[in-house]
Amino acid sequence: MDKQTILQERFGFRSFRDGQEALIDAILSGRDVFGVMPTGGGKSLCYQIPALLLEGLTLVVSPLISLMKDQVAALKEAGIPAAFLNSSLTAAQQREVLRRAELGAYRLIYVAPERLLTDSFLAFAAGQRISLLAVDEAHCVSQWGQDFRPNYLDVPAFVRRLPRRPVIAAFTATATAEVGEDVVRLLELREPLRLVTGFDRPNLYFDVRRERDKTAWLMDYLEARRDKSGIVYCATRKTVEQVCEKLRAAGFAATRYHAGLDDAERRENQEDFAYDRAAVMVATNAFGMGIDKSNVSFVIHYNMPKNIESYYQEAGRAGRDGAPADCVLLFSPGDVITAEYLIENGSEREQLDEALRAQLLIRDMRRLRQMQAYCKTGGCYRAALLDYFGEAHAPGCGNCGNCVQRREEPSGETVEEDLTLAAQKILSCVRRVERKNGVGLGETMIVRILTGSRDKTLLAREYDLLPTYGVMKDCKRPLLHEYVRALVKQGYLLQVPGDYEVLRTAEKANRVLFENEAVLWRHAASKQTRPGRKPAAAGGPGAAEQSLFDRLRGLRAELARQAGVPAYVIFHDASLLKLAELQPATELELLTVSGVGEQKAKKYGRAVLAVIAEWKQEQQGKKSSKAKKKEPQPPLHLRPEQLARYVCDPDGISMTEFARRLTALKEGGEAGELTGRQLSEQLLTEGYLKEQSAETDNLRRRPTPAGESVGITLTERSGKDGRAFTMVTLTEEAQRWLIGRLSEGLIME
Ligand code: ADP
Ligand code: MG
Repeated sequence: MDKQTILQERFGFRSFRDGQEALIDAILSGRDVFGVMPTGGGKSLCYQIPALLLEGLTLVVSPLISLMKDQVAALKEAGIPAAFLNSSLTAAQQREVLRRAELGAYRLIYVAPERLLTDSFLAFAAGQRISLLAVDEAHCVSQWGQDFRPNYLDVPAFVRRLPRRPVIAAFTATATAEVGEDVVRLLELREPLRLVTGFDRPNLYFDVRRERDKTAWLMDYLEARRDKSGIVYCATRKTVEQVCEKLRAAGFAATRYHAGLDDAERRENQEDFAYDRAAVMVATNAFGMGIDKSNVSFVIHYNMPKNIESYYQEAGRAGRDGAPADCVLLFSPGDVITAEYLIENGSEREQLDEALRAQLLIRDMRRLRQMQAYCKTGGCYRAALLDYFGEAHAPGCGNCGNCVQRREEPSGETVEEDLTLAAQKILSCVRRVERKNGVGLGETMIVRILTGSRDKTLLAREYDLLPTYGVMKDCKRPLLHEYVRALVKQGYLLQVPGDYEVLRTAEKANRVLFENEAVLWRHAASKQTRPGRKPAAAGGPGAAEQSLFDRLRGLRAELARQAGVPAYVIFHDASLLKLAELQPATELELLTVSGVGEQKAKKYGRAVLAVIAEWKQEQQGKKSSKAKKKEPQPPLHLRPEQLARYVCDPDGISMTEFARRLTALKEGGEAGELTGRQLSEQLLTEGYLKEQSAETDNLRRRPTPAGESVGITLTERSGKDGRAFTMVTLTEEAQRWLIGRLSEGLIME
């Protein structure tokens, strides 16, 4: 077996991703490696494939129980024997794992770092041939990172206790230089191959939105994605509670995760999310590292995170399966204050000495400013992120909020509005507030004053006594916010940073206030109605494929339930989509789908093919039953008393309408139908109508003299689109004549 065969047969992937092959080759040649790849980049495969090719055992140091559990489940699904050792197992279960491991039952064993130096584990390890030690989430070794885990520092001591030094392979998604240095030094890697792959994730759509009502926006967003799964990150536990509560009250399947919940609830909620029982996870940044769920199709940041590293890592949990996914950050100036508070009062660094703490504080504040700058950039969001990580990129990505907005605003679509009067009111309000309190107020308060809000703070500080209080109460608040931003953009208002960002009038405002300068606002016509990008529809399935996709999802849910694993461990959404598109009929075709390896084809192939075949048959059935409907019904037989109920239309009607009205005389349960076309054919064969060459549009037949003699005529009508057309018309006389014929038993056939 070679790596390519394993990739294809065990994992079902056709080609390696960026960096994987080089890292695997290095490991196989006996060299330490340090791989830095973005979340979802495919780090696991870099040690899992060598684990199958090297003799002996691979140990994987992993920080989280849930992470181990899912990875081991996924490996087992692929037919690779693996196990984990952590506190979720009883003592007896742990002994059993070790016993089987000694018999050589596993290729990989996942362990928590705390276990490395325990007597029982050291005793076990001493008797094994350990060829590879993989350290996943290796940034946990560094106290510079968010996830410092002191026991990661035990790795070198553990290695020294082994009879033979294994190859050490470290992996992380954290790209900063400080963390990188720490990983190499503290894990004592020997001249490792250091490989940093590209950080771009083209399938992720990035956006930053300033929404006055974040909850309302979130609900709209989720409403449009009822069948999708995603994460909502909040800055504090309290916000998690509130948001989760609101979502549940509105009927969304939401669950929550933060460090204030007990272990049992956290585990349960995380599983509900992983197993798709809860579609939305509302969480603090405590929810993270352990999520390998591949079908996360959005990550919404309800608050701005503390730095771009965290943001990119958290947002990166979307779209691991490569399908289009959204990363939207809902920014508000208040988030900056919360972030500053968290940085200043964080408990993470309590164990550190004062000098280091001070150093970290300065660094964190600097990072916070960079995060803020990202939120405010008018340029490409992806470019801003990649710049931050020092990666080259195209000037615009075309798949972020700012790039898309620019595309949606071609000159033809912009409108120009005269904002002078509104501007005068807004500027005057800001000016008066400045005079009153000497500093100014934030945008939200200004808008509240203008709209006459009964906000407590506002009333307590007597802003309701200003003459501009309530002068714009008829203006919708979101629109008013847009006006304010337009005034900022045009330089009439200044945003002055401070503890809070406040608005102040610029010198230029005087021209509007006192000289009647006109203020014009150019904006995209769709600006206020656009609720954000449409659901990640690009590349989505068509209606037919969607129905097969849904069917396959149902099958997957059932298989996952039987196997006791999360659905994505069985097949990724991306694989199901591909299946729905290709509709394979044989196992061989099945194997061409990315994510379907031999093991999975063997295990689930038959069920999948059966569902597809059944679905195809149903589609065929539907088609032919549709065709059946169009087959002519038996001819219409009406009894004289039924015909007597026909009321002739004095205005004259078309043959189609006449046929419809006759058919309507049928009584419940009676078969038979007369169509306009049948009637027309009949009259043609009987010589009441004749064909004519199509000189006139629409008119294929016209009455013969015989037809005219029974009352069939041509009339001018105007169609729905206002265009005139000529129609064969049955006058009242012709209708009576036809009814008479029918009563005499002359059937239209
Ligand atoms: P991370 O780097 O975040 O640890 P994972 O190892 O969990 O990423 O991989 C992310 C996803 O990408 C997984 O679902 C995995 O199956 C998939 N993947 C990994 N390598 C490939 C590949 N070469 N081709 C296709 N999909 C892959
Ligand atoms: Mg990983």
